[in-house]
Amino acid sequence: MLDIDLEGRVAVVSGGSRGIGQACVHKLAQAGAKVVIGFNDPDRGPEVDETLAELERLGTEGVSFCGDLTQPEACRDLIDLAQTRFGALHILVNNAGIWRRGELDVLDEEALLSTIDLNLKAAFRLTQRAARLMGKQRSGGTIIQVASTAGERGEAFYSHYAATKGAMIAMVQSLARELAPRIRVNAVAPGWIETDMTEAALAGRGRSAIESLIPLGRIGQPDDVANAVAFLASELSAWITGSVLRVNGGGLIGSD
Ligand code: NDP
Repeated sequence: MLDIDLEGRVAVVSGGSRGIGQACVHKLAQAGAKVVIGFNDPDRGPEVDETLAELERLGTEGVSFCGDLTQPEACRDLIDLAQTRFGALHILVNNAGIWRRGELDVLDEEALLSTIDLNLKAAFRLTQRAARLMGKQRSGGTIIQVASTAGERGEAFYSHYAATKGAMIAMVQSLARELAPRIRVNAVAPGWIETDMTEAALAGRGRSAIESLIPLGRIGQPDDVANAVAFLASELSAWITGSVLRVNGGGLIGSD
């Protein structure tokens, strides 16, 4: 039987408290990885503790880190926790992100900078710190950026968000060359996924309008993305780097 086996691997998942990140934590743990779960809101602590208990039930273990990744020291501490707690880091899933509407005409400094600070600068800092650790390991590592359909096609009213995700894709294509052969760097580009982030947009009639644009006929679930992440984290993708794996049901993110 073909299996994804991450036994003995250590992963960091940013934004692992809910949504896509939480599904990635579960999926990587189901494959046997130990997982460091990054999150930001201390009120999510009990939910994260439940996830940690679930990891133990799965026969693996995890640890959590609560901190605002727009702060450079939080990025450093999240990555370093993998090393101090589990002695290695093999997989980084850069997933934490925000998606806030901002028509160009009214886009203010706060919305622009907070989006860049988390979606792009934090991803860079986490990648840099992780690559230093992975580069020293005989087994190297694999880095997976959670980008977006918006980063490839753009997204009206979210140009600042789309710009961070497009930059993330350019970063993947650059670092895949720079960090090879020890470290593989890939992205997943999700389309519409049902999470807290999209809850309002998917409410009411918005949902069927969006579904009508998706050839596979449904909104994606966090597990759809987590499956792709698990593949990119595993040896099944050993000869894949610099790729953007679209996880979007064949659809577009906007109405174009
Ligand atoms: P959610 O809003 O459901 O979850 C966001 C996660 O990011 C949470 O774990 C949150 O932590 C964490 N986070 C937010 N701000 C910070 C911060 N300042 N520091 C550290 N962690 C932070 O998002 P999704 O699961 O929907 O999205 C995950 C990723 O997927 C994002 O990068 C998003 O851009 C991308 N994506 C999502 C799509 C979708 O349709 N949902 C489509 C395309 C891409 P906490 O719980 O503590 O607040």
